[in-house]
Amino acid sequence: MYLADYHTHSRISPDAFMPMTVMAEAAAAAGMEELCFTDHVEPIAWEPGRPALERYDWKALTAEFDAARAAMGGRIRLRLGIELGDAPWDFARTEQLLSQAPPLDFIIGSIHMLTDAFEIWDLSCFAPADERAAKAGIADYLGQVLRLARWGKFSVLGHLTLPLRYLNEKQGFHLTFDDFGAEVEEILRTLIQNGCGIELNTNRGSTPLPDATWLRLYRSLGGEIITLGSDAHTPDYVGCAIRERQKLLRQCGFSRFCTFDAMQPVFHEL
Ligand SMILES: [Zn+2]
Repeated sequence: MYLADYHTHSRISPDAFMPMTVMAEAAAAAGMEELCFTDHVEPIAWEPGRPALERYDWKALTAEFDAARAAMGGRIRLRLGIELGDAPWDFARTEQLLSQAPPLDFIIGSIHMLTDAFEIWDLSCFAPADERAAKAGIADYLGQVLRLARWGKFSVLGHLTLPLRYLNEKQGFHLTFDDFGAEVEEILRTLIQNGCGIELNTNRGSTPLPDATWLRLYRSLGGEIITLGSDAHTPDYVGCAIRERQKLLRQCGFSRFCTFDAMQPVFHEL
């Protein structure tokens, strides 16, 4: 089975501290044949009150990537991608940032923030008082994901069910997206129409994002483009649960998964 991890962060991301070379060594040690770096790029600052960068430092990203490629030689296939976060906050600025980018292999489009209807934007800090408030947050999040899907200038949608990771694993809720079937279906249909895929985020071995319910729905709607990624920010999680989640994809009706080369999907048998 071909093994590829398509969601990893290096020290180029503000929330990770490892050189790409260290991450690449860890991927090779974990048996991966291909690794895609997807460091964060956002049109806005993470914290309210902190101004967004005037321009993204693409040179730092490519220098780091070139160093990793030189260090690894032919031991693993390395790809340069980004995780493009929260584009709906400013599509014009996002497009301007992307217009300055070097040639990329892959773009994850994702949402990490609620709209400014909420006092706390960052989903990882969202601490609703009860289930009702939690579901209001999920509804707001899915509205942003739909806006992102309609825009469609990325390869795959990252971690579709991300709020569940924070609400269930951090805040002690036991929530699903079951009440939001219509919203999720509209998002998946929009992605498919726009030629975008989704990722199966292995969530470092915890509940996959999204889980089998939504993977099956995506497949039943005709969705074919799907990548697998660990979302590792440290070497110990690189390649985590990729093999197990390939099996899950087969159980959900997929016969192939994707890697990307110069923004074009490359299909591999499962
Ligand atoms: Zn993310």
